[in-house]
Amino acid sequence: MLEDQKKIIIAIDGHSSCGKSTVAREIARKLNYIFIDTGAMYRAVTLYCLRNNIIVNGIVNTEKLVANLGNINVSFKTKPDNKQVDIWLNGENVEEEIRQLEVSQNVSPVAAVAEVRHLLVALQQEMGHAKGIVMDGRDIGTVVFPKAELKIFMTAGADVRARRRFDELTAKGVQVSYEEIKANIVERDRYDETREESPLRRADDAIVLDNSNMTREEQLEWVIDRVKNM
Ligand code: C5P
Repeated sequence: MLEDQKKIIIAIDGHSSCGKSTVAREIARKLNYIFIDTGAMYRAVTLYCLRNNIIVNGIVNTEKLVANLGNINVSFKTKPDNKQVDIWLNGENVEEEIRQLEVSQNVSPVAAVAEVRHLLVALQQEMGHAKGIVMDGRDIGTVVFPKAELKIFMTAGADVRARRRFDELTAKGVQVSYEEIKANIVERDRYDETREESPLRRADDAIVLDNSNMTREEQLEWVIDRVKNM
């Protein structure tokens, strides 16, 4: 029985827009675990930078960002329905705003700043110290929880990922072009994989989940099977 199993840490890393958070959230619900979307934390810091002229014309003023880190408070709060967690930035719910394309287009250079990573990684490690957590991001299995009991590396073809994200945004009424979305996905992967500070890579002991041709239900089943077999 899943409920009887010892609580573990599940680390889900992988490429941009391959549905990591969706799968992680559903696994957490099924196991009664805490779910943490670490990308939301980097996005919240990016939103702060955009609002405070720390990013101008796509260039991050690293010195100013580091000097401002003490003024940036990022946290998660559970919604009144007790089901979903939202990200808050300095007392404001920014869950919606951080998903905008402008944030997506500026987040990778912010996430490459070592001081930003050190701050957020320390918060993430604190959140997972009691285990019973599903965390998704880029460096969870390699840096945040190198001893996580289950590590999954998710990926899918860039066209599939761009199409899914395009459909999702247009369904919400957001005006974007498919080309713009795809370019952002490809560029973020390139940036995340080549940065010096904890680049995106598959941990040696992570299992790959390529979900190009899988439904959400199939992905969930795939992960749950791995949890059962632990
Ligand atoms: O997961 P999401 O696509 O929302 O993440 C946004 C960006 O945050 C990524 O493209 C990456 O640059 C950064 N990120 C990271 N490390 C994490 C999570 C996200 O560098 N653990």
